[in-house]
Amino acid sequence: MARKFVISPTKLRTYLLCPAKYRLEYIDKVGRFYHRARAGYAFGHSLHRALDAFHNAGGAEAVTAEDLTASLEQVWVAKGYADAEQETAYRAEGLRILQEYHATAAEARQQAAPETPPPALLWTEKTLRIDLSPDVALSGRIDRVDEHADGALEIVDYKSGRDAVSEGDVRDSLALSIYQILVKTKLPDRRVFATLVALRTGARASHELGDDERAEVSAACLETGEEIRTREWESVLPVVNDHCPYCDFLPHCARFWRKEARQQGVPPPEIARGV
Ligand code: SF4
Repeated sequence: MARKFVISPTKLRTYLLCPAKYRLEYIDKVGRFYHRARAGYAFGHSLHRALDAFHNAGGAEAVTAEDLTASLEQVWVAKGYADAEQETAYRAEGLRILQEYHATAAEARQQAAPETPPPALLWTEKTLRIDLSPDVALSGRIDRVDEHADGALEIVDYKSGRDAVSEGDVRDSLALSIYQILVKTKLPDRRVFATLVALRTGARASHELGDDERAEVSAACLETGEEIRTREWESVLPVVNDHCPYCDFLPHCARFWRKEARQQGVPPPEIARGV
């Protein structure tokens, strides 16, 4: 039996941002020559790892604030910082975030009424996959799923660079919508909703997709997945777009545009690299 084509939030997002980027990343597979480490990614990854370990070990009930902050050192990703000063500033911010995260978690435990205990950890770093059609499957790796006392399942996603999050952010997040589809398909009897946590401030926002919304997102994923699966990649070439300044493949595409411009006798597009 032929293997199914598997799409994920990252693949879909990449394709929707720029089909040429998808080609370079997943068809030509030249990403290793262009990917740059970034402070924001390294910082977010370090915090994710520390919080995963914290929740897996039993949360605030089992792990002290000192142990949680000390764990940051063990999981710290040092690549991507401009210099030692920037890394030190990020590390200090990481320690502050973890201290406050622990205080909030401990307080929630203390204040929880016996009839409504705080949610229990169900999964961390869980990969789920469902079939959308005979040819296309949808897969996603979920940071964390909590199980509430009433059986509801809460998908929790952390944002390390944000001070605020809104219900609209959760509703409009393709990844969180896909995670809700995956969990609800696997456990259809449960209520499933998603929450974003802004780690810098502890702000949280949640949204629950209705049946119609999940069906709509599933259909859109299948349509885009089918388009990706059947696309003729030879003819997919770089086209300047709003994402280019932030894209790791900009040097590759800039070379392509310079060559094209030389052949046409016109000036190449000038794109300043963003952060
Ligand atoms: S630089 Fe622009 S055109 Fe090239 S892959 Fe990135 S987003 Fe696409």
